[in-house]
Amino acid sequence: MFMFTHDCSACDRRQLIFPSMIEGVTRAEGGTQVSFTCWCGAPQTAVRSAKRDERTLVAA
Ligand SMILES: [Zn+2]
Repeated sequence: MFMFTHDCSACDRRQLIFPSMIEGVTRAEGGTQVSFTCWCGAPQTAVRSAKRDERTLVAA
């Protein structure tokens, strides 16, 4: 799997999401939709592009 950053809609922060936090992966248009729980406890979903799944780590 992969880690990535996500702008949480609940705590309004950019969080680093680790593979261990991901609860589900489904296919979506143009990529993969992952569901996970933010550090703040809010359920979130994010769509990852199929092209760039493995290298989206961004320095904060
Ligand atoms: Zn959050």
